[in-house]
Amino acid sequence: MRVSILYPFSCLLSAALVSGEASEAACDELASVLPNSTFYPEAPTYNASISSYPFLQLRLHPSCIVRPNSPHDVATALSILKDSNCTKFAVKGGGHNANAGFNNVEDGVTIDMQSLNHVEVALGDEVVRVGAGSLWQDVYDVAEKRNLTAMGGRIGVVGTAGFLTGGGISFFSPEHGWSCDAVVNFEVVLSSGKIVNANATSNPDLFAALKGGQFNFGIVTRFDLKAYPATTLWGGRTVYHPNATESLLTAYTNFKMGEFDPYAAGWVTVRYNHTAATFSPISIMWYTKPAQKPGALKQIMDVKPQLMDGKVEAPISEHTRNASRQVVADPERTIWTTTSFSISPRIMHRIHKLWADLVPEVSKQYAYAKPIAELTFQALPGPPRNGSSPNSFGFTADETPEKDLIFLQIIFTFTDAAATEGFEEALKDFLKLIEGVSKEEGVLHRYKYLNFAASFQDPFSSYGGDQKETLKKVARKYDPQGVFQLQVSKGFKLF
Ligand SMILES: Cc1cc2nc3c(=O)[nH]c(=O)nc-3n(C[C@H](O)[C@H](O)[C@H](O)COP(=O)(O)OP(=O)(O)OC[C@H]3O[C@@H](n4cnc5c(N)ncnc54)[C@H](O)[C@@H]3O)c2cc1C
Repeated sequence: MRVSILYPFSCLLSAALVSGEASEAACDELASVLPNSTFYPEAPTYNASISSYPFLQLRLHPSCIVRPNSPHDVATALSILKDSNCTKFAVKGGGHNANAGFNNVEDGVTIDMQSLNHVEVALGDEVVRVGAGSLWQDVYDVAEKRNLTAMGGRIGVVGTAGFLTGGGISFFSPEHGWSCDAVVNFEVVLSSGKIVNANATSNPDLFAALKGGQFNFGIVTRFDLKAYPATTLWGGRTVYHPNATESLLTAYTNFKMGEFDPYAAGWVTVRYNHTAATFSPISIMWYTKPAQKPGALKQIMDVKPQLMDGKVEAPISEHTRNASRQVVADPERTIWTTTSFSISPRIMHRIHKLWADLVPEVSKQYAYAKPIAELTFQALPGPPRNGSSPNSFGFTADETPEKDLIFLQIIFTFTDAAATEGFEEALKDFLKLIEGVSKEEGVLHRYKYLNFAASFQDPFSSYGGDQKETLKKVARKYDPQGVFQLQVSKGFKLF
């Protein structure tokens, strides 16, 4: 009810009207004004949009899907939705956030940005202009033709819009920080229908808020990204023998506690496959200066025995294309959660032991859903420094999260919807236990990375200081009627 106090206009008052009928009326109006961009169930374009979601829990069925072809189409769609008795809507970039309902909606309207997928290199400005419906593979393919690259996702099929507005960890993050900090301009459609630019000099408060605040202020239609010289990367996936698990965790701990190497990126995962009853330790790591490889990765690369070594030197676009093949093969259900801690000699081992002792038992209860569980350790990027424009994550320029902090991704992937609630409860239990151990060890950190957070977490409260209050002020300024707070179906909201 807090929302209705903060905003004069409240969809809560007309909740009775927020029904399938209201969204059908909104769809009819959208279809009359944007006839070539509005699609109903059974239309091939509607079905293609639903099947483009990589995880089955995301394949909800809206009353209609709008695929805008321009920022003006986005403005038109927003103005119809705003006047539509509070029809619920969702915004889809690449559709890769794993939380059901964050990028699609049952019965409401989904704005699928995928037609805004134009990527262009503005050579004079050394900028890559990226339509908000683009996937990272599109960006790398276009930029590399001009000998350039950008700070983007490490798997090509992932969307740019959710990634960049939530933070974005790239191959180059150890060296250059968050991908969102490489955005030099956001083109945004506000709920008023106005199309504005947010950059260091124009709407700078919105510029900072969009780096971590996601959809709470407007719909981004284009990102202008700082371009970097194209390069090859050396690295990829190494699969180790289960006996190597402890050595791998020790090697990653030493890597994190040793001298910081800005060219060493990636993560280590321990995967449990319940059906096969196996634990597999894996590293997926890259070195961004291949001539000096393996740098600080040496210890991790030296862990033995290894069952598979997929490391190659190749252009970024090739690494991301290969990685995509492994993701898109067989869509299943997945739920994720995250937490962060400072590195210490024992913490990774303690967390792993806790998880490895419990995960077979939890998985056994839902064996019919063929679960695969993963525990992933990964470094966080550093904050903007030397007077660069701020983001919203609340780290000061003199903090060094890239050296000190690790974030954890805990995942269950499974085949049967009936197991969803059970795995969600298990994730909550794991989090409680892991955060308990981290607290005991004196290393628990507040930060939760939004792009890997579960729907039951509150990443904005984890940004520290008064960051959430600042984001709320920006949301009130740019969306005074609270359209994004009230009508967006689900997602990490501010109020
Ligand atoms: C296989 C895989 C690999 C990944 N690799 C990485 C990685 O290397 N580094 C990393 O940091 N993260 C990674 N992620 C996480 C990734 O950052 C998130 O899943 C992110 O949400 C992907 O962006 P998207 O456009 O697909 O988001 P979507 O799921 O489409 O949207 C996520 C949120 O953003 C909002 N949104 C979407 N478009 C817009 C827009 N135009 N304007 C405003 N709000 C919008 C949506 O409403 C939703 O709330 C990966 C995820 C997957 C599944």
